[in-house]
Amino acid sequence: MSVNEQMVQDIVSEVMAKMQIASEVTGSHGVFADMNEAIEASKKAQKIVGKMSMDAREKIISNIRKKTIENAEILARMGVEETGMGNVGHKILKHQLVAEKTPGTEDITTTAWSGDRGLTLIEMGPFGVIGAITPCTNPSETVLCNTIGMLAGGNTVVFNPHPAAIKTSIYAINMINEASIEVGGPDNIACTVEKPTLESSNIMMKHKDIHLIAATGGPGVVTAVLSSGKRGIGAGAGNPPALVDETADIRKAAEDIVNGCTFDNNLPCIAEKEIVAVDSIVDELMHYMVSEQGCYLASKEEQDALTAVVLKDGRLNRKCVGRDAKTLLGMIGVTVPDNIRCITFEGPKEHPLIATELMMPILGVVRAKDFDDAIEQAVWLEHGNRHSAHIHSKNVDNITKYAKAIDTAILVKNGPSYAAIGFGGEGFCTFTIASRTGEGLTSASSFTKRRRCVMTDSLCIR
Ligand code: NAD
Repeated sequence: MSVNEQMVQDIVSEVMAKMQIASEVTGSHGVFADMNEAIEASKKAQKIVGKMSMDAREKIISNIRKKTIENAEILARMGVEETGMGNVGHKILKHQLVAEKTPGTEDITTTAWSGDRGLTLIEMGPFGVIGAITPCTNPSETVLCNTIGMLAGGNTVVFNPHPAAIKTSIYAINMINEASIEVGGPDNIACTVEKPTLESSNIMMKHKDIHLIAATGGPGVVTAVLSSGKRGIGAGAGNPPALVDETADIRKAAEDIVNGCTFDNNLPCIAEKEIVAVDSIVDELMHYMVSEQGCYLASKEEQDALTAVVLKDGRLNRKCVGRDAKTLLGMIGVTVPDNIRCITFEGPKEHPLIATELMMPILGVVRAKDFDDAIEQAVWLEHGNRHSAHIHSKNVDNITKYAKAIDTAILVKNGPSYAAIGFGGEGFCTFTIASRTGEGLTSASSFTKRRRCVMTDSLCIR
């Protein structure tokens, strides 16, 4: 056979293989009326994915990345429109980040031992069908980021998205399956139900074919998943404090903290939710925040009015979550110019607008006597979530002391919080930070199980 004939034959075989794969699962682009049907379709798709080469998985992932960039603006607009939360420009950046920095199959690695008694490998294998629960704060970002990682690990995924973001989540799930089909992969690598409910979530959590559940959301869902009797990855709530000491570049700290806090109107779970600053620099820090960083200094009366609106009857008012500062101030009858992007005030750590995870650009400042007092107050404010914390300091001993005391999955030093997910910082991106179950920033390897593969007395060629 000539080289040309061989090439033609290879192309024909490839096309045939693609056609067979595409016809094995009927097309629904991942959306089903019933959770059991969604899981069944996902199981069929996983059988195909499980037999695919790593290279073929990577082709699908590349196409998901490409489509995510192409659709970043649509997804961002849909997310803001459907949920009423966040900022379109920032959501576009978040989608670009997911596309460019979520790890793919390169994250699936092998550990090997070889010696006189042979060769032993630890391989990272798929769980099969993973159940995933996603939040309304980063709806399509989480769906896309989870799917890339889970698929890289050889899994398929069934989502029970937040009902308030179902249209946006379905758009992302359709797009993912189109990306797969376009490059010869199966339909239904990511599935969902049309109308997610607590009941559909319970069906998923109890289903015999779901062996791993990844929950991204508040404390309720993480507790539900960890009580399911299945292996669970729990990415729960945070209330990240930003600590500032007297050695920091105070002007830059003000800029970084307000940039991080106002990103996507403070929706990210990693975003600065309050400041703890040592006494000697509090006034200087607040001066820069107000004079240079678009912070509005709220009076005592305005703080009380905000508390009444934001924490209506002691409960977080969903109508305020993810709104910009101007809108929030408008809700209490205060009109401010467009350059106002954050609301600030000084208060004790117990102040409800400081102690509560608000997910809106309200940034209270707590004054500390000294660095040790600042640590103590910051640890209290983090509420034991061990999720995220930030510090602005040039003193490595202080940074180390704080890092040990606060014990969080993320600790950003001298930068905005979003540096933690690879935006203006080194490292990969994720929108599922599993602080409660210890995986930390999840990636493809988090969605695999370790399998030991042993050959005795041979294959050692040392
Ligand atoms: P949420 O807890 O209201 O909802 C999250 C998801 O869990 C939704 O799909 C919801 O339908 C589901 N859910 C809620 N209670 C459930 C239960 N008892 N059983 C089954 N499913 C349940 O959270 P949200 O408002 O969508 O998102 C904001 C919260 O999520 C914040 O607390 C934020 O810190 C957290 N979050 C954490 C991460 C992380 O990576 N750790 C990422 C994003 C958001």
